[in-house]
Amino acid sequence: MEAYVPKSSKYIFITGGVLSSLGKGIASSSIGLLLKQRGYSVTVMKFDPYINVDPGTMNPYQHGEVYVTEDGAETDLDLGHYERFLDVNMSRQNNATAGQVYYDVIMRERRGEYLGKTVQVVPHITDEIKRRMRVFDGKVDVILIEIGGTVGDIESLPFMEATRQLCLEIGRQNALNIHLTYVPYIRSAGELKTKPTQHSVKVLMEHGIMPDILLCRAEHKLDKEIRAKIALFCNVEERSVIEALDADTIYEVPLLFAKRELDSIICEKLHMKKSKLDMDTWSKFVHRIKSPKKEITIALVGKYVKLQDSYKSISEGIIHAAAINNTRVNVKWIDSESLTDENVKEQLDGVHGVLVAPGFGSRGIEGKISAMKYIRENKIPFFGICLGMQCAVIEFARNVVGLKSANSSEFKKNSENVIDLMPDQRGVTQKGGTMRLGTYPCVVLPKSKAYAAYGTEKIKERHRHRYELNNDFRDQLAQGGMVFSGTSPDGRLVEIIELKDHPWFVGVQFHPELKSRAVTGHPLFIDFVKASLKHSTKE
Ligand code: GLN
Repeated sequence: MEAYVPKSSKYIFITGGVLSSLGKGIASSSIGLLLKQRGYSVTVMKFDPYINVDPGTMNPYQHGEVYVTEDGAETDLDLGHYERFLDVNMSRQNNATAGQVYYDVIMRERRGEYLGKTVQVVPHITDEIKRRMRVFDGKVDVILIEIGGTVGDIESLPFMEATRQLCLEIGRQNALNIHLTYVPYIRSAGELKTKPTQHSVKVLMEHGIMPDILLCRAEHKLDKEIRAKIALFCNVEERSVIEALDADTIYEVPLLFAKRELDSIICEKLHMKKSKLDMDTWSKFVHRIKSPKKEITIALVGKYVKLQDSYKSISEGIIHAAAINNTRVNVKWIDSESLTDENVKEQLDGVHGVLVAPGFGSRGIEGKISAMKYIRENKIPFFGICLGMQCAVIEFARNVVGLKSANSSEFKKNSENVIDLMPDQRGVTQKGGTMRLGTYPCVVLPKSKAYAAYGTEKIKERHRHRYELNNDFRDQLAQGGMVFSGTSPDGRLVEIIELKDHPWFVGVQFHPELKSRAVTGHPLFIDFVKASLKHSTKE
């Protein structure tokens, strides 16, 4: 590998210890935001130690949501946090898995590029990891690199080794290691315990990585004594042992870090000239989340509701829109498999709006369709995303147009497939093969609900699906009162549907939740919450 010439970027590596789910993604996003609000350009990368090439084919229960970037990469859900906090688009280069790294190295070996050498984890896998870590070198001021998993995992080893090597190559003044740990409170002893943190740092040091800053997740405040103890045993300055208490909302985390001067410590350690931190707009946004004036309930109907991470971007989109509407939105999670024609009234009792979620496969589909009929007839605000929109079309075709066996060919192939593959897709379907992924332009019909929300005719939204509204049935659906308020610029693909005779019934083939950002939100989510608020006042 060629000698590395340091460019202008600073690197911050974020590792996690003790246990998973400590919120490394939120911590990385929060640090990124603080640096951005000090005027630096920032990007965040996630390195996942699993062998899957991407999370695209993983079950949501395993992995949570699959986050799709503008350029159509199926990535880890933490990239969603990075985009929402930083208001910066990520790309396929921001996420790498062990699977991708090994795949590239093995392909290179097959092409004979290693010239007969033995291909090894060190240096070949670690070199490929470092190459990927450096792709934004010189393009932004700060590159944050989050290493997935927990230190000590067998899978993480090559990533830790690559981190150690890269820190050495770019120089201590350009690299910073932040380690996120857990300080448990043992009730019977009435004490916070530092031992797990000590052990975690020990493992990190065995990999040759010395943490500069410790972020200590804890349910109770870390007093000076505890911080001094952690500092002494872990070889970290006392002021760099920073408590990370549970916050009321994830969006408050950057403000809590700023209170502990995390951003100024980082700037100092990386020899970055400190400009003033501006968190005014963000603080107002957090205030609106924490002290809203109104309150409503929105139902989220999906089949993976037991793991709410499966719908991360949707629930965040609702939070953003709620803050903008100055309201609290309680989300009632409804398992689509539990919905029937008989119980839908009871299940949706007291709900002011219904969002029907995306998904794959036929499980829970009839429940979604039952809900849709009730929502349409009772004029409850409805927002259908991807599969949610497709279900709305099927219900409308069955019960309004009279196509009794209307269905999607994903679930049942028949002559009334109102949702189907486009003719050019047929015959080439395979898992992961023909999906429409990433950003596509859409033209919005003036005077529609969608236009009222977006305020423009030209939009771009992200997609992740195979099936489309079948153009053979467009006329019949339109005669029944369905409006196609968004199409691809050539008019061939229906992207947004609405109903004429309904206060707010909007279904979208794309995934607007992937573009909802903190502070600004997404136009459709904002108007959906607004319509639900209006509905709540009618009760
Ligand atoms: N399963 C449907 C399709 O492939 C919808 C996908 C989704 O909701 N993301 O078209």
